[in-house]
Amino acid sequence: MRDPLNWPTQDLVTHRADTTPDRTAMIAAASGNAVTYRKLDAAVDAVAAELDRRVDAPDATVATLLPTRPAVGTLLFAAMRLGATLAPLNVELDAATLQSQLSTVDADLLVCGDSTASLAADIDGCPTVSVDRELSAAAVADETAAAGSAGETATDVTPAPLSRTDTQLVIFTSGTTSEPKGVRLTVGNLVASAVASSYRLGVLPDDRWLVCLPTYHMGGLAPFIRSALYGTAAVVQRSFDADATQQVLAEHGVTGVSLVPTMLSRLLDAGWEPPSSLRFVLLGGGPASETLIERCRERDVPVYPTYGMTETASQIATARPETAFEHAGTVGQPLVFTDVTVVADGAACDPGERGEIVVDGPTVTPGYLNGDDDAFSDHGFRTSDIGYRDADGHLWVEGRVDDQIVTGGENVDASTVADTIREHPAVEDAAVVGLADEEWGQRVAALVVGNVSPEAVRDHCAERLAPYEVPKTVRIADALPRTASGTVDRAAVRSHFGTASESNESA
Ligand code: ATP
Ligand code: MG
Repeated sequence: MRDPLNWPTQDLVTHRADTTPDRTAMIAAASGNAVTYRKLDAAVDAVAAELDRRVDAPDATVATLLPTRPAVGTLLFAAMRLGATLAPLNVELDAATLQSQLSTVDADLLVCGDSTASLAADIDGCPTVSVDRELSAAAVADETAAAGSAGETATDVTPAPLSRTDTQLVIFTSGTTSEPKGVRLTVGNLVASAVASSYRLGVLPDDRWLVCLPTYHMGGLAPFIRSALYGTAAVVQRSFDADATQQVLAEHGVTGVSLVPTMLSRLLDAGWEPPSSLRFVLLGGGPASETLIERCRERDVPVYPTYGMTETASQIATARPETAFEHAGTVGQPLVFTDVTVVADGAACDPGERGEIVVDGPTVTPGYLNGDDDAFSDHGFRTSDIGYRDADGHLWVEGRVDDQIVTGGENVDASTVADTIREHPAVEDAAVVGLADEEWGQRVAALVVGNVSPEAVRDHCAERLAPYEVPKTVRIADALPRTASGTVDRAAVRSHFGTASESNESA
């Protein structure tokens, strides 16, 4: 008998071409070039046919090395049509790391574009094609779309039967805590995420979701899948820029946008007033400060603070604006179908009690490519993040398990110390880690960017924190080491203390 939960999944773009062919599917932000679902469907067919000639679908993996552009969406839908797996790689990585990721995903084909062709040329292991050359139909909605190449007449590739458990995507984590891990995401994970998200954010027929995040992370890729499922449009901007993004938000009647906190701060710094068309700013990727939420309240920004991760196909919990403004700092309730348990010492915590955040539900990955299954427990997927649920069930994310420093038997939260240091007016940025210490087990160490002395940082902390929380070691640096995704590279921060000169240290 057929498993009723393993529903047959219809090709999303075929469905849209059948039901809403004349609605806009994608818009290139800079040129305004737009395609309808009918045209996108024809392009997807043409690309699928091209891919089919080059790889042995449906077991193939197609890797991409592309910046944010509509072609990434077309490729995703073409891979879907063939039943193949898409593995978008991070264009900010060096050739050696990409080479190793390409072999991890066992790619049969690498798709680059003009902007990444020279990087792709430094990587071998599988054939390479370009969306600006051999696969030009994929660029149907891009800024300089090679008009006509996508044709209005479909070549009619028969969509592969999709199963809920088929791996559709492989996405690498940001690599904040260690090397990026390849995460498998199934058709079921992606559809469940899109459905659950719509219950929190709502869907209107004229919605336009601005994509300006990297499309090799879930936050940038999700709007493509969601828009196709909802029959709405994705507006695609190559990269975020405070002035240009403001203009795109206003000119294209954007109704929703996904941003990380630094982007939203920059928009507000640039004097941004949200246009009346805007329904939601999905704010995630890292903690949003109370100050940022307060600024949103003052400017009437419809902000939805979000907690999510690659392993859950993006959103886990999302606060509505009214919740965010009333309880600044919370990420609100988990999405529908997602169970969040806070676990300490193997048992579920009471409200207010801190522990590791554990997630279960249809968006959770079936596993990593490397087969590491340590994170899967009886309660669900262990996120390695620390937090608590309050009496109303709102989730508060406090940092990563790795951020917890135990010094002289006392628990110190590295992100709390870093936040305190950042409050110093001369400090631009700070990262706090625990270093091995013979006397204390671990000692609190801070790497600080700013025109400030280590002593001033320690004095500032001593006035605001418990004595054991005050960094024993403070170093001033020109910049914090960051991963290719922009998060602070904690391993590099630690090794900084092993190698940096002692001249500006206070210990
Ligand atoms: P890696 O797993 O390789 O160390 P990463 O965890 O940074 O990298 P992502 O999956 O891109 O890779 O990021 C998810 C993580 O981002 C979460 O586990 C959490 O630590 C952090 N995060 C996301 N949203 C929030 C939020 N609203 N508040 C605090 N932290 C957040
Ligand atoms: Mg992670």
